[in-house]
Amino acid sequence: MAGPGQGNAVTDETAGTGQTGRKAELARNLAVVERRIATACAVAGRKREEVTLIVVTKTYPADDVRILSELGVRQVAENRDQDAAPKAAECADLPLTWHFVGQLQTNKVRSVISYAGIVHSVDRLRLVDALSAGAVRAGREIGALVQVALDAESGTRSSRGGAAPDTVGEIAEAIAAAPGLRLDGLMTVAPLAGPYAGQPRAAFDRLTEISSLLREAHPAANMVSAGMSADLEDAIAAGATHVRIGSAVLGVRPGLG
Ligand SMILES: *Cc1c(COP(=O)(O)O)cnc(C)c1O
Repeated sequence: MAGPGQGNAVTDETAGTGQTGRKAELARNLAVVERRIATACAVAGRKREEVTLIVVTKTYPADDVRILSELGVRQVAENRDQDAAPKAAECADLPLTWHFVGQLQTNKVRSVISYAGIVHSVDRLRLVDALSAGAVRAGREIGALVQVALDAESGTRSSRGGAAPDTVGEIAEAIAAAPGLRLDGLMTVAPLAGPYAGQPRAAFDRLTEISSLLREAHPAANMVSAGMSADLEDAIAAGATHVRIGSAVLGVRPGLG
């Protein structure tokens, strides 16, 4: 019969194996994603350094973020403040930059800018004002990307987040003029509806065109955040500088997320 000492030993060993197993799994997945990015860069005639991997850790625990950090990941993203705020607090000792990529309500701004260095989902003037006020109050400079919804009607916002292409200019100008904010570039998610549905490459090419126009006035706003697990090759071919990869690294999320 196992005594208490042996019982503990078994428990400890099991816990150790679980942690080691998850680390090995995440390392394998990261290696696969890294190979996909490197291959896509080579095919597109781009340098590997032109593309930054952001790992989207939404729905996964702080322990996974810690393992990713041990594996060399430095850029992580979240889409819901309720989940992200405690996770970022648990990981405050790690050398990470947190990106916020979800729809953002103005009443969450204060919390988000306490941990996020870059917000990818700026899609309206009221949010620019709230982010600017919050950044100034916190004494921080926050990077801001205009989220472009390629399926939004002229002059509107998408219900899934993002501004219609013809409103990107005025939102970008507002960010550029806002104290506490730095205009970093553009973000998009490949549309599920409209003329670009099922055509991520065409969608990302359109985003790159809009980015070229933006950079005429704001040369430093050169981030193009596009591409997820399913379409990172299309995004890199079109010129993305940042890909946001969740499930290909961490596993398929149960349910919506
Ligand atoms: C979840 C999410 C991602 C990552 O999606 P995967 O398909 O899991 O790679 C990228 N961008 C945004 C805005 C997200 O919400």
